[in-house]
Amino acid sequence: MKERLEALRVEALQELHQVDNPQQLNDLRVKYLGKKGALTEILRGMGGLSAEERPIIGQVANDVRAAIEGVIDEKQNAFLAAETENRLRAETIDVTLPGKALPTGAVHPLNKVAQEIEDVFVGLGYSIAEGPEVETDYFNFEALNLPKNHPARDMQDSFYITEDILMRTHTSPVQVRTMQQMNGKPIKVICPGKVYRRDDDDATHSFMFNQIEGLVVGPNIRMSDLKGTLLQFVQQMFGQQAQIRLRPSFFPFTEPSAEVDVTCVQCGGHGCRMCKQTGWLEILGCGMVHPRVLEMGGYDPKEVSGFAFGMGVERIALLKYGIDDIRHFYTNDQRFLSQFARM
Ligand SMILES: [Zn+2]
Repeated sequence: MKERLEALRVEALQELHQVDNPQQLNDLRVKYLGKKGALTEILRGMGGLSAEERPIIGQVANDVRAAIEGVIDEKQNAFLAAETENRLRAETIDVTLPGKALPTGAVHPLNKVAQEIEDVFVGLGYSIAEGPEVETDYFNFEALNLPKNHPARDMQDSFYITEDILMRTHTSPVQVRTMQQMNGKPIKVICPGKVYRRDDDDATHSFMFNQIEGLVVGPNIRMSDLKGTLLQFVQQMFGQQAQIRLRPSFFPFTEPSAEVDVTCVQCGGHGCRMCKQTGWLEILGCGMVHPRVLEMGGYDPKEVSGFAFGMGVERIALLKYGIDDIRHFYTNDQRFLSQFARM
């Protein structure tokens, strides 16, 4: 029995020395020291020993168990130490590594251009006024010199909600609201916002688009003030070389009215396909506020005068970035949008 115990010690220690992972170590612990392990198996024969032999064999058995346990503990500690070291190594931060670039959003090109336009006018001393997108017929049409059945209402095919309520077709109702609020005092505002028209979507039209209008009212406001303001604006948007020209036009809320062209952003005025060889591109509409509109806003047209202008943000963005289709702005194609993140 003593020989069997000694043989077990040799075999166990040999096997333990070759162990190289915790799982294997645990398997050997069970194999030698477990309830059904080799040592227990041998000790079952203790019952057949004499009273003198029993303590001697018991001593040997304890020695063998201690030896095996000792190696197992040693190995276990070694595995633990190795694991800790690995974990520490994995957690080490190399501060010299370049940082990971996180994907970030960017301002939508339309918001970006709207912001630029607003900045130009705020720089010229304008304040920003906003109003509701769902408007009454009165503010959207009537107070802008467009009574019911006026033929010019057809110019702006509208989305009606009820007979008297509609989605605003321009931001001009904000001008009326501002005049009523200012109660005869001088005005210098721009009104940015979304507007809605029953247009079929195509490369240059959308049922919803963004407009920015401007309104200046006060004593002695003249057409030359309007022209100077718009020249300032286009030069800040398109560069100092940009020029404008005014062509007579018609809007019910201004008299006289004009369409404004800017020198072609592509050819600089020499003539190209984009400007159909004219050297000019249409950019916005404007005029002197109609006396009827001033009156309905609570101003006396004999005492004050004013000018107004309105532009589509999409139109300005198309020209500024040389984009050929307004629908790019609404389809949210990342390949299109991400180009503006770097500008
Ligand atoms: Zn051109």
